[in-house]
Amino acid sequence: MMNMQLVYLNGEFLAPDQAKVSVFDRGFVFGDGIYEVIPVFGGRLFRLPHHLARLEASLAAIRMRNPYSVAEWDAIFTRLLRANGTADQSIYLQITRGVAPRDHAFPPNATPTVFAYAQPLKYPPAEQLAEGVAAITAEDIRWRRCDIKAIALLANALLRQQAIDQGAVEAILVRDGFVTEGAASNIFIVRGGRLITPPKGPFILPGVTRDLVVEIARAHKIDCDELPVSADMLRAADEVWLTSSTKEILPITRLDGRPVGGGKPGPWHARLFALYKEYKQAFIAGQAN
Ligand code: PLP
Repeated sequence: MMNMQLVYLNGEFLAPDQAKVSVFDRGFVFGDGIYEVIPVFGGRLFRLPHHLARLEASLAAIRMRNPYSVAEWDAIFTRLLRANGTADQSIYLQITRGVAPRDHAFPPNATPTVFAYAQPLKYPPAEQLAEGVAAITAEDIRWRRCDIKAIALLANALLRQQAIDQGAVEAILVRDGFVTEGAASNIFIVRGGRLITPPKGPFILPGVTRDLVVEIARAHKIDCDELPVSADMLRAADEVWLTSSTKEILPITRLDGRPVGGGKPGPWHARLFALYKEYKQAFIAGQAN
């Protein structure tokens, strides 16, 4: 499968086709588990403490304990990364409640299933950065705990596919007239030189990239508010961006078939993306956390 040499499963490092999970795993049967995706730039895990803190929060929210210490996670990641060469990578990890006879109630003694692998990072193609991408708006049909990074992503997959079917790359989700996030990203708008992103809470995933963009903006005295963004504000925005660990900061230049602002990536995107890349270079050089 793909160009992956090793996966980690329940204490073992295995070839992907040797890694097997029970059909009674609650991840398979109920989607009862959580996950993380951690980018690796220049061989270093980017914003690792933030990802581990979010992992802890997701586990606590589904009433599971972290099966491993930070040192144990680190040993797993290091071995996976070493097996996969030196290009930029991403680590995917997931933890499910384990194998048990099918019953909604939590099994009293199940051992969590832990799965992880590393793969080369696929950056967005250059023309997407140069021209921006198309997005659609869609009703946010998900549940009320979108702050949990749950493996149950059926709604997100349906919404993303709706975007793909319309020739777009992302669905921007709207709940009760307000933007929550993308199907697999967070959303920023720019309006009159101010950045605005929806506030954290149960309706969005607290994106690590989102938080970093807010942090970088404020460090450079760029106005950045965490405030509700109505669907009308989205449509009237000068610029719209999506953020995620693997797509970084990507301009959205068409929304529901109409141009966003001037229909080209805007100056605020150029500024924040340059600052982000500067931060990333400093991180790779060991000068930022
Ligand atoms: N929101 C959702 C629903 C996501 O799935 C993701 C990540 O893929 C994000 C936001 C962005 O989070 P991060 O910046 O931590 O990758």
